[in-house]
Formats: sequence, C-alpha cells, structure tokens
Amino acid sequence: MSVQYLKGVGPKRAQAFARLGVRTVADTFYLLPLRHEDRRVLRPIRDLSAGLQETVVGEVKGTAVTSTRRGFKILSVILEDGTGTLVAKWFHQPYLQQRFHPGHRVIVSGKVSWGPGFEMVNPDYEAWEDGSQTHTGCIVPVYPLADGLFQRWLRSFMKDLILARAPQVQDFLPHGILHRHALMALPEALRAIHFPEQMEDAEAGKRRLAFDDLLLLSLGVARMRRAAEGDVAGAMAGAPDIETAVRARLGFELTPAQERVLEEIKADMARPRPMMRLLQGDVGSGKTAVALLAMVHAVGSGFQGAIMAPTEILAEQHYLKAQAVLEPAGIQIGLLSGGISVRERERLRQSIAAGEVQVAIGTHALLQEAVSFHRLGLIVVDEQHRFGVKQRAELAAKGSRPHTLVMTATPIPRTLAFALYGDLNVSVIEGLLPGRQPVKTELVPEGMRLQAYEFVREEVRRGGAAYVICPLVEESEEADLKAATSLAAELQKGILRDSSVGCIHGRMRTEEKRRVMDAFRNGEIQVLVATTVVEVGMDVPRATVVVVEHADRFGLTQLHQIRGRVGRSQAQAFCLLIHGRYLTEEGAARLQAMVEWADGFQLAERDLELRGPGELFGTRQAGVPDLKVAHLLRDVRLLEVAQREAFRLVEEDPDLIGHALLRDAVEQRWEGALALATVG
Ligand code: ADP
Ligand code: MG
Repeated sequence: MSVQYLKGVGPKRAQAFARLGVRTVADTFYLLPLRHEDRRVLRPIRDLSAGLQETVVGEVKGTAVTSTRRGFKILSVILEDGTGTLVAKWFHQPYLQQRFHPGHRVIVSGKVSWGPGFEMVNPDYEAWEDGSQTHTGCIVPVYPLADGLFQRWLRSFMKDLILARAPQVQDFLPHGILHRHALMALPEALRAIHFPEQMEDAEAGKRRLAFDDLLLLSLGVARMRRAAEGDVAGAMAGAPDIETAVRARLGFELTPAQERVLEEIKADMARPRPMMRLLQGDVGSGKTAVALLAMVHAVGSGFQGAIMAPTEILAEQHYLKAQAVLEPAGIQIGLLSGGISVRERERLRQSIAAGEVQVAIGTHALLQEAVSFHRLGLIVVDEQHRFGVKQRAELAAKGSRPHTLVMTATPIPRTLAFALYGDLNVSVIEGLLPGRQPVKTELVPEGMRLQAYEFVREEVRRGGAAYVICPLVEESEEADLKAATSLAAELQKGILRDSSVGCIHGRMRTEEKRRVMDAFRNGEIQVLVATTVVEVGMDVPRATVVVVEHADRFGLTQLHQIRGRVGRSQAQAFCLLIHGRYLTEEGAARLQAMVEWADGFQLAERDLELRGPGELFGTRQAGVPDLKVAHLLRDVRLLEVAQREAFRLVEEDPDLIGHALLRDAVEQRWEGALALATVG
C-alpha cells in the first residue's frame, strides 16, 4: 500500500517521503533514524547548564508574543518548576501561543542559553503526561528530513505507525535462527530501532534488520547457485597450433603472471562446469592479451566466444586488437557496434547464429539484444565489476551456459565476491609489465594550471601525446559537451596553438568518435580532450601525460583508471591533477592517496574505506537487492553468519517449502530476478 493513503499523509507529504526513498507503508518501517537523543533525564531548572541539551518539566506561568523592530514575532513562555524559572522562546510561530495554558505542565527539550536568566530557543515541547511522551522525556529518534516533512510531525507519525502496525508484522525468520544468533523478533526490532526504551535496544534492533538484509541476499545467491549446480558447459581442450599462431602475432611474450592466470582459466574451461572467474589486474597489467588467448582456447575447441566492453570505443579497440592477432590465425571475428548499418547488423546476427562468426565483439548490450549464438562457449566481460548474478541469470534464461570471465581493475574482497556471486574464482595479475615505470603523479592547484599545460606543450614537442580529462558536469551531456569542447578550443587557440588538439565526448556519434580516436592513435592529434565517458580501457601507448581538470570531483577508482591511460610504454609518464583551492577533507585525502600510491589495489582499499562498497560495486547494477540496513564491509561478521545459515537452509530445503514466509520475503527482495534464474 502506498504511504500516501496513510492517515495524515496525502500527495504532498507522499512526495516528500518519496525523496527519502519511502513509497510504501512497508518502506516506512525502514526509514531509519539518523540518531537517537536521550532526553530521559529531567533536570531541575536550578541545575541547568548553559550550552547543554537539557529536558525540563515546568508549569506555564504566562505567555507573551512580542515583535522585534524588523517585525519578527517572538513567543515567550515562562515556565517554573519550584527550583527556578526558564523562558522558552519560539521565533516566527506566534500561533503556538494557544498550545500553552497557564497552570498546565509542559515538558521542553532543547539547548539551554543564558540571557538574563535561563532560556531555550525553539525547544521540542509537549504537554506533560507521564509516560506517553514522544518528543521529550524519553529516547527520541531524529529522522532524516525532506522538503515538506518536519521532524515533529514525522516523529509523531512514525510513533503512531510503529505502535499500531509493528506488532502485526509477521516474523519470517525461523525460530532456530533467531535463537542461535540471539536476534530480536521482527516486531520488537522495528519498535526498538525507532522508539527504543534503552539506547542498546536500538542497536539490537538494527542488528536484527541488518541480519535480514544479509540473509535474504545470501538466500537468493544460494538458491541461484543451487539451481546452477547441474549446469553443463563445454569441456574445452583447445588447439595448440592456433594458439601458437596467435601468440606469434601478439608482439610480446606473456609475463609469468599472465601465463599463470591463463593456465588457471584454461583449467576451468577444461571442466564441463561453467567457469565463473574474475580476472583482476591493475590498469595496464595486460588483461586483454590473456582474454584473447582464452578466446582462442574456446574457438580452438569448436565454440564461439563473445567479448563485451562497457563502451563502443572500447569494443572497437578490442575489435582492432582481435583483427591484428586473431584474424591472421584464421579466426572469424565480428563487431556489433552502434555504428553499423541495419543491414550489416542483420547480416552479422545471422552469421553469429549460424556459427560463422567465431568471436563476436560488442558492448554490454550484446547480452540484452536478440543475438543468438550457434554454440556460445565463452563470454569475456571487460572493465566491469558490476557483472553480477542478474546478468548471469539473463544468460541462463537464454538457454546457454557459457564459461564466463570478468575482467576488472577493481579488486573485490573475498567475502564480498562470495556475497554477491555465491561462487566466484579469482585470478590476479600482480605487478607491472616488464620495463614499465610507475606514473609520476603531481597535484596542481588551479592557480598553476598554465604550468600544467606548458608541461604538456613540452611533452608534445618531444614527440609525446597527452590526454586532458574533464569531469561530467551535473550528469548532463549538454554541459559535458560544452566543458570539453570549449576547453579544447581554448587550448588550441592559446597555449597549445602549435599542436593539434582534438576532442571526444559522449554526445558524438560512433563514427566521429572513431575518427578522432584513429587520429589520436596515429599522431595526427597530439592532445585529446575527453570526458570521462570514454575514460576506461583506452590503450594508446604513445600518450605519456594525462591532465585531469577538477580532479577533486572524481572518485579514487576513477582517477586511477584515468591515470592508467598513460604509462603504457617504456617511457616515463605523468599524471597532473588540477584541483580547486578549497578541498573537502575527503577530497584532499583522495588526491593525496593518488600521489602516494601507484598501486591500484591499495587505492581500491582506500576507496572502499572512503566510500563503502555499495557505491563501488553498485549492488543495484549487479542485480542484487538493496541493503536497507546492513553494510557489506562493516557487517562482515554478520554476513558470514547469514551466509552459513542461508546455505544450510537451501541445502536442507532448496525451495524453502517449510519456510513459506521466508521464501516470500526472499522473492520480494529479489523482485523476480530469482524466477529468471530458474528458467531454462
Ligand atoms: P589492461 O589490463 O588495463 O586491460 P591492456 O591489456 O590494455 O591492459 O594492456 C596494456 C598494454 O600493455 C597494451 O598496449 C598491451 O598490448 C601491452 N601488453 C600486454 N601484455 C604485455 C606483455 N606481456 N609485454 C609487453 N606488453 C604487453
Ligand atoms: Mg583493459
């Protein structure tokens, strides 16, 4: 039921609730207080201290509304409790006067100040009725607010709602679990998390709800894993002669680290069970070569493969690489990009369906599109740590169970990987490629921007090339385009007038992007101004400098990705981070971390600390349910407990037939994604 139809809400407040993420009545239970204030101690007026938050019960002696010279109305209410006098004042709310009747007792809670006597300005207040206080005299929740919602109204609303409805909420957790882990029952937990009797109760309530988050998540993952248990994938032996031909075309020997992870991947692919492997390696560590050889292994075994990249530019880049190294070995490749004609597209689809195209390359949309493969054996997903259970379910729904290799520069902690995927093997390429030096990173305050571009000019004069990255402004492509194009024009006319400056941004058509990228690759363009739209994975070894405008607006992982565009040859590379004069503490910490650490894994750990896993791993995109209360990193202990229980439950009762309430709760949280997983 929509929250709008609850007593006292209506369309206006429903909108305000929506801004807080609350749409249904059930959502309101999870509108968690920001904190609780303990207002239980009633202080005699005589013992008040100015500057402290205090609660006082007193009798109304008199009220008065006065006006300041500028016309502000001030309501003063004089309270006495036998030990002293306190004046409570409210600004701009003269109508409150009618709530205070001389002779009645009221309770007020607020910060004490010392005028000529004790005062409180805009305190929380209510009539004193022993034991039924909401805003004062008890532990009081402080809720997040949105335009159109006021603390006092919201608190009263929540109290009525929780008192009336929480007791009727059915607990979906089996008794055994509650008991084993000393968890509060759901109705009590809801009560405690909003209106606790003791401060510790709120914590206990929170722990219970966090456990729910983690258990429902783990149950979904456990069920999917269980459903996939019987899945069969092609057992692949490869074809050594084709592999040798491709290796000869690479132009370099694989490093021992690359060889090792390739062996791990091949070992998985040799088994008749679908591989699910994450290939982690810092930016520039050479993941693509490994992926291409894995492709060769699949093709050599008579299967097709698909490579999916996050952007068209990257798909194109993979296509160029594949053209150079796979085609000469007789492997048929195809690029399904937005830039090709409808007819060409149709033709490609047909040859993929017929099995003529052996390796299909495209964006992540390749999954959603109506592309059917003749015999899909391997999927490689590039630069993506958000490929999760949902995408796997989509694949499964297509009736194919290919091996899957996901490549990412962002390491996932083990427990997290397990939480999000259920089963996932991880291969890691450590260290830099031979002969590569860490990129030198420097902070450039805005006022010294010019020097950064003088440096670029010098590098270009010596034969180098540079990227200049602008941030997305307010997520608007329009503004984004303007920022990039006007900067490019400014540089071309000004300090970089002797070089050729190009520009690439999200609004360009694929054709144009391709032209600009080609020009940058072959040296016609020496300085490429780009927005973050095209930031990941670009591989132009000539580039030795990357300048980042407004570097403080980028996340740490993103900055590292951007920096990874250079340092792709033997030459020393540089990363110049231009930042504004006023940095937030967190912003400064981020930039400092960039200077200190060249290693992406260490940076990712820092980022995880600064931002938390939700943002970094986009649980939404991974297709797993939102966590309402739990925090995947902070609650890692509880996560382990929940996972154990989830896998035990599914082991004993795969369809949760004996736990109908729990099953409904899981299905609700996963919103149909689970149903998908069991199709096909
Ligand atoms: P990433 O892991 O970021 O995807 P890439 O696969 O794009 O990295 O590799 C970065 C660059 O290093 C590419 O230009 C690639 O051709 C080159 N490269 C990869 N492996 C090796 C190697 N073993 N020796 C030399 N260069 C390599
Ligand atoms: Mg890459």
